[in-house]
Amino acid sequence: MADALLEVEGLDAFYKDFQALYGVNMRIGQGDVIAVIGANGAGKTTLMRTVTGFLKAKPDAIRWKGRGIGGLRVDQIAALGIALVPEGRLLFPSLSVEENLLIGGQMKRKGPWSLSRIYKLFPVLQERRNVPATALSGGQQQMVAIGRALMANPELIMMDEISLGLAPVIIKSIYDALPGIVGEGLTAIVVEQDIAKALSVSSRLYCLQEGRVSLTGLSGEVSHDEISRAYFGV
Ligand code: ATP
Repeated sequence: MADALLEVEGLDAFYKDFQALYGVNMRIGQGDVIAVIGANGAGKTTLMRTVTGFLKAKPDAIRWKGRGIGGLRVDQIAALGIALVPEGRLLFPSLSVEENLLIGGQMKRKGPWSLSRIYKLFPVLQERRNVPATALSGGQQQMVAIGRALMANPELIMMDEISLGLAPVIIKSIYDALPGIVGEGLTAIVVEQDIAKALSVSSRLYCLQEGRVSLTGLSGEVSHDEISRAYFGV
């Protein structure tokens, strides 16, 4: 079998003495859109933090194009082309929309994404490019967070609960932009509590429960019952 873009194998993760992930396995091919679902505290954010180097992992527990990257620093992992849209967005509040976007471009990786391309994807950001990030609505802030990650021209974009706390109509407008994001071979991991949303955008689903993968399968093939059992443990 050809090397996956990202492989996670037997991944454990800890916060001091507390073990948050237990032997997680995951395989993501180039161009895949993968959904990770699970209840509060299941370990979704921890998985994202581990892949991006904020939490340590054994070198071979995370492989990028066949190379173990588990011990690398956050900046080294970002330079490989792995970008995170963090839960809660974490924008620089006093900087303008455009300054926040430009921070994402610091990595100077070559690729299709530029300020003008982000503004084409989310036109409202161009209109509001000079206002501080805090002056934006939650949905617009989420667009900036996605744009900032894209400015790094990543090969893999991981989006952690991008719909959290947003109105349904805003969530729809953000999800409507996804095909324009992943259309060019960009690989994506979408972390979601909204199961229907997760299924609608992904080809494969992983469900976490108490730090373990409780279900994986093709998004079009997993049944409602299987997901309920894997998600809630009932
Ligand atoms: P949520 O949907 O609430 O974000 P999640 O699936 O992303 O949930 P994590 O945030 O990864 O879950 O949390 C997994 C486990 O690790 C939980 O039991 C949580 O309490 C614990 N945890 C998360 N962050 C820390 C931390 N900084 N220190 C200690 N324990 C933590």
